[in-house]
This record gives sequence, C-alpha cells and structure tokens, in this order.
Amino acid sequence: MALPLVVGNWKMHGTPAEAFSLARGIRTGLKRVQGVEVVLAPPFTSLSAVYKALRGRSIGLAGQNVFWQEQGAFTGEISPKMLLESGCGFVIVGHSERRRILGESDQFIGKKTVAALAAGLRPILCVGETLQERRQGSTRKIIGRQLRVALKGITKNAIGKIEIAYEPVWAIGTGRNATPDQISLAHQWIRELLRKLAGNEQAAKSRILYGGSVRPENAGDLARAPEVNGLLVGGASLKAESFLSIVNQFISI
Ligand code: PEP
Repeated sequence: MALPLVVGNWKMHGTPAEAFSLARGIRTGLKRVQGVEVVLAPPFTSLSAVYKALRGRSIGLAGQNVFWQEQGAFTGEISPKMLLESGCGFVIVGHSERRRILGESDQFIGKKTVAALAAGLRPILCVGETLQERRQGSTRKIIGRQLRVALKGITKNAIGKIEIAYEPVWAIGTGRNATPDQISLAHQWIRELLRKLAGNEQAAKSRILYGGSVRPENAGDLARAPEVNGLLVGGASLKAESFLSIVNQFISI
C-alpha cells in the first residue's frame, strides 16, 4: 500500500493571492513530508499560484473537477490535459456538492473518471450516502452503485490507480463526522467491491480516504481507524495550522 494520503479541498475559497499565501504557510510547516502524501486542491483560478508557492516541495496538486472531452465548445469546463499542464497529478471527481448542487449523475462521473485516468491523472473518486439513505439502511447499496457505475469503463488493471474517498453527505461541512466504526465498515465494503471488480492485487493499491468534518481534534482517531488510508479535508484545510495538525497525525502514526 502506498503512503497515506491527505488531501485539502479548498472548494470555492480564496483568490490566487490568498491561495498563494495559504500554500506557502502549508509548505513552510511541512519542511519534510515523510510518511504521508499531501495534496492540495485549490480552485482552478489558483492552481498556478499554488503551483508556484509549492515549488521544490513534494506536495501534490489536484483539480476539484474535470470534463471528459479534450477540448471544444464546452463553456466553463476544464480538460484533463489542462489540469496536467497546470501541475496537477490528481483530480477530485464525484464530490457530493457536484452531485447534489450541479446535478452530476453517476454516469457523468464515470466519464470523468475514465478521461482523467486516460490522461494520466489520478482520480479521487468521492462516494457517500445521504442521512436518509443511512437511516434506511442503504449505505452499502448506495456506495456500491456509485462505485460500480463510475468504474464501469475502467479496465481491471487500472483500478488501483484510483483513490476512493468515502464522504457521507451528512458529515460534509456539518461538524458531525462519521464514527471510526462506521467509517471502517464502509471502507471494508468499498475494498470488497474493488476486489470483486479488479482482483486482490489492484484492489490493494487504491487508497480509501475518509472525508466529512475532519478537524484537528478528531483527525487522530479517524486516521487510526482500521481501513482508513488517508483523509479528504474541506473546511479545516483552509487554515495552514489546522491542516498541518491533521497531516501531522499521520506523520506520528
Ligand atoms: C469535503 O469537502 O470533501 C469535506 C469533507 O468537507 P468538510 O471537511 O468541510 O466536511
């Protein structure tokens, strides 16, 4: 298994100048990135500023979204190649905010995943249930469907290049994180499904991250939960101090 992965999703926060300064703060705090892989996902308009701020450090860059076409009349969209040339090695796909607010379907997300992977980006594929779905006992069914559809066009031997983020919708930005037991169980289900789809060897390569109200105070418990290979951090990644404190939980594991 690769190193644990901690991703900061800045969502729609920060101008390029603000993003530069936040990235500099994180860079300064992470003099030696050891035992953990760190990736920042600023808004598209700040990718170049963050790339400059991180120069010379092994901190990765991710897009928050991508379109599946290489180029063309797709106003407002960004291609995998554009992300690659902006310094990105990763891209978040299927974030619940895009599913819920922008109406992205599982099929849509599948196309993005295929295109990102084909271009050489590592997709961070987000899945997760709503509170109602959890209460109905459908969590496994929902994340299973989201994964199966998104991974449909991916060959078996490429599945290991995809990182999965389990992000229960009810935990995102709410201050209410899933418990370590809930997370470990969902991650087990995800790993089992990956094994079914791609075999043990490929399934073991994907990192399964947890995301949803991760804070410095709960990050230690979440990082130590069985089956957790990293964290996807939203709100708490917007301050260098809190993000660094979360990353440090992995350095000391
Ligand atoms: C996210 O946006 O992926 C996320 C997990 O947000 P937050 O940490 O703020 O809940």
